[in-house]
Amino acid sequence: MALLIPIFGDQLSHGLSSLAGQDKKACVILMAEVDEETEYVPHHKSKMVYILSAMRHHANDLRSAGWTVDYVKLTDAENSGSFTGEIARAIERHKVSALCVTEAGEWRVKAMLDSWPDRFDIPVEIRPDDRFLCTHAEFESWTKDRKQLRMEFFYRDMRRKSGLMMNGDTPEGGQWNFDAENRKPAKRDLAMPAPLHFAPNAVTQDVIQMVERRFAGNMGETTKFGFAVTREDALRQQKHFLDHALPNFGDYQDAMLTGEPFLWHSILSPYINSGLLDPLELCRAVEVQYRAGKVPINAAEGFIRQVIGWREYVRGIYWHAGPEYVESNAFAATRPLPEFYWTGKTDMHCLSQAIGQTIEHSYAHHIQRLMITGNFALLAGLNPKEVHKWYLAVYADAYEWVELPNSLGMSQFADGGMLASKPYAASGAYINRMSDYCTHCSYDVKQRTGPKACPFNALYWEFIARNERKLRKNPRMAMPYKNWERMADADKVALRAHAQQFLEKLG
Ligand SMILES: Cc1cc2nc3c(=O)[nH]c(=O)nc-3n(C[C@H](O)[C@H](O)[C@H](O)COP(=O)(O)OP(=O)(O)OC[C@H]3O[C@@H](n4cnc5c(N)ncnc54)[C@H](O)[C@@H]3O)c2cc1C
Ligand code: SF4
Repeated sequence: MALLIPIFGDQLSHGLSSLAGQDKKACVILMAEVDEETEYVPHHKSKMVYILSAMRHHANDLRSAGWTVDYVKLTDAENSGSFTGEIARAIERHKVSALCVTEAGEWRVKAMLDSWPDRFDIPVEIRPDDRFLCTHAEFESWTKDRKQLRMEFFYRDMRRKSGLMMNGDTPEGGQWNFDAENRKPAKRDLAMPAPLHFAPNAVTQDVIQMVERRFAGNMGETTKFGFAVTREDALRQQKHFLDHALPNFGDYQDAMLTGEPFLWHSILSPYINSGLLDPLELCRAVEVQYRAGKVPINAAEGFIRQVIGWREYVRGIYWHAGPEYVESNAFAATRPLPEFYWTGKTDMHCLSQAIGQTIEHSYAHHIQRLMITGNFALLAGLNPKEVHKWYLAVYADAYEWVELPNSLGMSQFADGGMLASKPYAASGAYINRMSDYCTHCSYDVKQRTGPKACPFNALYWEFIARNERKLRKNPRMAMPYKNWERMADADKVALRAHAQQFLEKLG
């Protein structure tokens, strides 16, 4: 009689809680590629290749470490297509007496796990996922008695808890946050460290062929696939980032440049989220670089804030908000997602850059996601659920627990302000300040109406006017409403008419 340990595609960590303290000889690990996971959104081909290849490599690593692994491929003739179906088949194959699993990463999978005890009539142990700094109970207790949830205060608690960038009780450098020093536009002539490219081996080649056959119509191409698919290679990318990109990460965190998808970002999120890299280990390595005088404080603190601040905070919000969070639509936005989100074919250069590189690399950095594709969706009143499904499909790092609060909450403000204190809405001026996109665009960022006017300008004011009732009392929106009030009535009418014309053409 065996103990069955199912491992999902985002649980590729050797220290996974379900494996801790187990007798290897008495256990069978089950890993399965199933249709219900590959088909619930039309995943980018590179995202699929990454996850499936990393799973296959992880299974081999576990075998080398002495575990028995039963691996079911997507193409196996008997594959039932669902994880529960694969558990049922494995119970038969291995005479299973009990199950032990690390908790699910999202509501959909949690519901599945919760159904297993009744369904299989054997003991099912569900262990907490200890790869996060903040437990569910800690986040819930942090939310108690707070009128507003704000990342900054949560982040300070995580700094205290982890001891990262702390000197006793005080933050290193005398302040918690160096965000004001993280907003420089980048210049083209600065040397930019591209992420490492890992040539696909035979295992990855097999997955590429299978994905190209089975998911021919999905976004993306696999010819340039170069993600790491093992912990060893993910660690190489981690070191490459620490040595070459981290020193400038802080200064240029918000910058965007034509033809430069990566700048000084780490490109580590796919590895952190699937479990190949340990986020705390990474943050400690960042602090070591800082303490050794190799990187400035705005880079080290800025990076650590993203990981133990934002990443942990959005996970907390995801579970705190409940499964109905996905239905939030505070602005009652209903416009369908324009076709160009799938093709990149638009004459708005900023959007064609952000979407074009998404198609090519299954990657865009935070400001491109928030202030280009997200900002446009917000201003144009796109349906937030469609926007969420797009983000979930197209990025190699996208799992619902981290993607949904970022897209629905942070970028679309669809939760009415549970996650963020104000909508991230901006006109063309912001994009012009933080990028060189506007200099390559057929629109004129300085014009607000007329055939050459940058669409973001009129759309921004239309967004402000359209949502006045919902946003006017927000203290952080006082300035835009003051400016809107000061504007001449004729200008207001012209701006709104221009925006309406644009939206009608958009469909
Ligand atoms: C609309 C939208 C959707 C997003 N969807 C995802 C998603 O599906 N998966 C995902 O991991 N991140 C998501 N993010 C957050 C962020 O954009 C990505 O984590 C980041 O771009 C990944 O690239 P990187 O590894 O080069 O990050 P870097 O810029 O190098 O940042 C370092 C690390 O910090 C963490 N991080 C930074 N910002 C966030 C954040 N807001 N939330 C969570 N972690 C953060 C990531 O682990 C990242 O690897 C989204 C942001 C927005 C605005
Ligand atoms: S002019 Fe407007 S549409 Fe063109 S790149 Fe700039 S912000 Fe984007």
